[in-house]
Amino acid sequence: MFFKALSAWLISRNAEKIYCCGPIRDSDNRHSGFLQATGRGPGILSTQPFPENFMALIVQKYGGTSVADLGRIRKVAERVVTAYGAGNSVVVVLSAMAGETDRLLRLAQQVTPEPSRRELDVLLATGEQTTVSLLCIMLESMGYPATSLLGYQAEIVTNTAFGRARIVEIKAHRIKELLNQKKIVAVAGFQGRDQEGNITTLGRGGSDTSAVALAAALKADVCEIYTDVDGVYTTDPRVCDRARKLPKITYDEMLEMASLGAKVLEIRSVEFAKKFNVPVHVRSSFSEEEGTMLVAEDHDMERLVVSSVTCRKDEARITLMKVPDRPGIASKIFSPLAEAGIVVDMIIQNTRKSGLTDLTFTVMKADYLAAMAIARDVAESIGAEEVLGDEGIAKISVIGVGMRSHSGVAATMFTTLAKEGINIMMISTSEIKISCVVEEKYTELAVRVLHQAFGLDTP
Ligand code: ADP
Ligand code: ASP
Ligand code: MG
Repeated sequence: MFFKALSAWLISRNAEKIYCCGPIRDSDNRHSGFLQATGRGPGILSTQPFPENFMALIVQKYGGTSVADLGRIRKVAERVVTAYGAGNSVVVVLSAMAGETDRLLRLAQQVTPEPSRRELDVLLATGEQTTVSLLCIMLESMGYPATSLLGYQAEIVTNTAFGRARIVEIKAHRIKELLNQKKIVAVAGFQGRDQEGNITTLGRGGSDTSAVALAAALKADVCEIYTDVDGVYTTDPRVCDRARKLPKITYDEMLEMASLGAKVLEIRSVEFAKKFNVPVHVRSSFSEEEGTMLVAEDHDMERLVVSSVTCRKDEARITLMKVPDRPGIASKIFSPLAEAGIVVDMIIQNTRKSGLTDLTFTVMKADYLAAMAIARDVAESIGAEEVLGDEGIAKISVIGVGMRSHSGVAATMFTTLAKEGINIMMISTSEIKISCVVEEKYTELAVRVLHQAFGLDTP
């Protein structure tokens, strides 16, 4: 697949080396990868001449810290101009300025603790409106043609789940027209419109999803995610200073990482990237360094058994003690939670001799009080002894596609935590990850010792 209808363009040559880069397209003219190779003469994959009309379509997304003030927006403009000046079509997706979405949320909550979800989306969407217009004003003042589009103008159609809307379609006619007119197009991230034309937002971190979904819809050659770290690391570099940048990571690993706490990419953006095979390059907006490429799993890939460690502190644990152990009880507990729209993550049930059982599950901290109230009601109706709640927990996970073919990862994880005296309260596994719930105060320690135990400290 990688070499199907290969078109990698020679872009410069000196006596010793050939540098080569460009999109690799399949027979459908869809990208199937992005080649960047450096080599000597015969080692190179293709040396076709650089065509006059060569043009890559690049989607660049800049996060909140990258557009935090006018100075940074100017840096973004300069980077955009570099890509545009090299002959590429450029679509820029922006977040709101750092802290702006939180500020808007606080404003609404000063009016009422439960603002209408529709109106909240209208309010939150203004954060991204500000940055795209400022970028275009900046680009025009530098002499470049640029047009900003809000989510609805870019025809990003979502369902009506205000605050967590899902993209159902991107028509993108207008973006294509503007690109044909050689305009730089700046699209407000994080937002769309539903079928009735209401403004919707995609949930926190949603600009990543806007960017990757647009890249998929436009069949872009690459989607560059510019952020405040220079790639995807073996763990959050702000938690462990031994974290190392990964040159590439599989879509599957990144999916697990995103869902288990690595907020560098929002999970739905990774789902889009995987589904539509979008080459995503996560990199820093403050340096020129190569970042991390998201790639499909490749059997020749040299891989670590565990490639990353993640943590999240946004879940809480609820236990129903001495629940009667008979059919239908679990359904009595989890059905009302589901009806209330509460997502349950981990569940464990222990058997006691006496025909009673303890049942523990986790929910998001934001749903904790509502879930506790439901659990207490259910406990009373089924005759459970008591309900215990604990908000002071963290979920620590180790992730790696190498786990598919290696045993002993769980044993290493449990032994490493035990050596530090860290008690494991809950465990869950999938094919490529193991998660343990521990006391919240051990989060950073657990991440650091696991990072070392799985050989991630040293290159
Ligand atoms: P942006 O505003 O650009 O979208 P985010 O704050 O959403 O940026 O995501 C970047 C942050 O993700 C980093 O500052 C870093 O602290 C955090 N992060 C968590 N886990 C990882 C990881 N494994 N690799 C890189 N960054 C990570
Ligand atoms: N501005 C939104 C947020 O803060 C979306 C984003 O930045 O991706 O969550
Ligand atoms: Mg983000």
